[in-house]
Amino acid sequence: MELCSMSEGGVRNVILPSRYVQGAGVLGQLGAFVKQYGERPYVISGRTSFSKVRARVQASLLSAGIPLVGYDDTVSECTHAKISEALSKAEALDCDVVIGCGGGKAVDTAKAVAEKLHLPVITVPTQCATNADGMADAVVFSEDHKFVEDLWLSRAPVLVLVDTEVVARAPPQYIVQGMGDALAAAFEKPAYAATQRAKKASPLATNAALEVNMRCFSTLMTHGLQAKKDVEAGRITDSVEAVVEAIKLQSGFGFGGGGCAAAHAIHNGLTMVPGLARKHGEIVAFGVIVQMVLEKRPLGEIERVMRWCKSLGLPIRLSDLGRLDRSQLVRAAEKACDPGDSMASMPFEVTPKMVLDAVSEADRLGEALFES
Ligand SMILES: [Zn+2]
Repeated sequence: MELCSMSEGGVRNVILPSRYVQGAGVLGQLGAFVKQYGERPYVISGRTSFSKVRARVQASLLSAGIPLVGYDDTVSECTHAKISEALSKAEALDCDVVIGCGGGKAVDTAKAVAEKLHLPVITVPTQCATNADGMADAVVFSEDHKFVEDLWLSRAPVLVLVDTEVVARAPPQYIVQGMGDALAAAFEKPAYAATQRAKKASPLATNAALEVNMRCFSTLMTHGLQAKKDVEAGRITDSVEAVVEAIKLQSGFGFGGGGCAAAHAIHNGLTMVPGLARKHGEIVAFGVIVQMVLEKRPLGEIERVMRWCKSLGLPIRLSDLGRLDRSQLVRAAEKACDPGDSMASMPFEVTPKMVLDAVSEADRLGEALFES
């Protein structure tokens, strides 16, 4: 007698930060949290971001009786050289807990250093353009900002401390960029999950992660525009808190760095086109629209996302991306379909011709929306 049917194979895997704390003024609690992990904290940061929070970071650590043993506030790019340099300094000072403070480059450098030193890492974001703070990976670039590799880390930060007073006071374009990047979660993660399932390949996505990614999408649709207006007006409201959580916690939830699909591959392709004048999250948002076209989603669904993007000032037409050299779009489409890129995570085969057609179709729909 058969008691249960067989599983389809593959291992479900999820990587999450141990603790996530978000709210206005929570930076004041940093010292108390750090004390749970060590006594010799070391900060890795960018110069501008550290200058914004340095006084509060130092005061909080001091009041907990664990002053900073040192800091490196010179991260302008997460390179292998920068990682080694910060690592040597942290090691020489015998630090026992690493605090990454700033945007994606600084927190990625801090996470990579902590991994190599087998130390816990705490991330303190100073803006909302990225979800790198909670992720178990570090994206390494060259000095001239060319992608080198994605380092997969064994664990996520032990704490992500998001002070809304800090991130919501950063220039409003950051939260808009963060929303553009987070938008991709509801489209890329399910595509990635379906592909892994079909290949019976590990890691399989957990249903928990997929649910949270979908919740991220509904939060963005409901609160996105209001959050942008509130940040512009200098108000920290429930909409701002909801969107900050969607970006910082929900968008990357449970994927440990993996989980990209067509939208990011299209972003990567477009970065080769001269004249591109938008930031990561903005380009990814356009990539989402192209992915929706590739997936042959219903027009109403695509237009809903386009209207939302338009309301936030995210690009929906090629002309919104800058003065692109359109003769290079063929190369961009080829790059997007590079077997090593995340297009391979789509559950069906995507050719450069399909990408090129989908980009034109997205552009046509975008133009039509502007005329209507
Ligand atoms: Zn991204």
